[in-house]
Amino acid sequence: MSTEEFQYSHLSAQVFTSEIMARSGQDITSCYQCKRCAAGCPVAEQTDMVTPNRLIRMVILGDIEQALTNQLTWKCLFCHTCGTRCPNNIKTGRVADTLKKMALDAGLDPQNPEYKNFHKAFFNHSLRWGKINEIGMMGEYELRNIWDTMKKRKVRKIISHMKARSQFAWEMFRQKRLHLSFHSSKGRDEISRLYKKSAGRKWI
Ligand code: SF4
Ligand code: SF4
Repeated sequence: MSTEEFQYSHLSAQVFTSEIMARSGQDITSCYQCKRCAAGCPVAEQTDMVTPNRLIRMVILGDIEQALTNQLTWKCLFCHTCGTRCPNNIKTGRVADTLKKMALDAGLDPQNPEYKNFHKAFFNHSLRWGKINEIGMMGEYELRNIWDTMKKRKVRKIISHMKARSQFAWEMFRQKRLHLSFHSSKGRDEISRLYKKSAGRKWI
């Protein structure tokens, strides 16, 4: 883990916790580590042991860089299972979403950079079309991954990646899980306005 300075790196554990609580609207200090959230989280087994309760602990202890870059912050599906199970009504998904936005503001990459590419492709695509068109979003995601790999001059890796992804895409298409059509949502201007409004909000 790098020890470089980044926006928020100077904050004390107390200030960081207050900031997360203000932004996410969740009273994480009421967490008593009962782990009910961890038992229901659908991605907890793929986050390198970072469960929702551990994410809250990281924030409270002021492990800022880890909180912003760990796998749960970036893999959280925002399904709210943790919130419905929590006896203190803590929606850890909102905490994870807040941390992800702060990591993007600070220019910090997640532990696996592909998560950031997925996030960007998903976000750009929803903003542009008001909904997700699978072929467009996945295309942008793969191009971003390829570009990152090209910057590292790993040509073989690009070829094997493209081969594996083409096979995967073909299989999804064959099973009618990948659609080639593009649709836009009637409310996309409204989505764009909401985004601009929230992006202009000043925090610390
Ligand atoms: S369920 Fe709620 S109180 Fe229990 S560990 Fe999770 S966040 Fe904390
Ligand atoms: S909202 Fe996120 S942290 Fe909570 S259960 Fe769903 S995936 Fe896990």
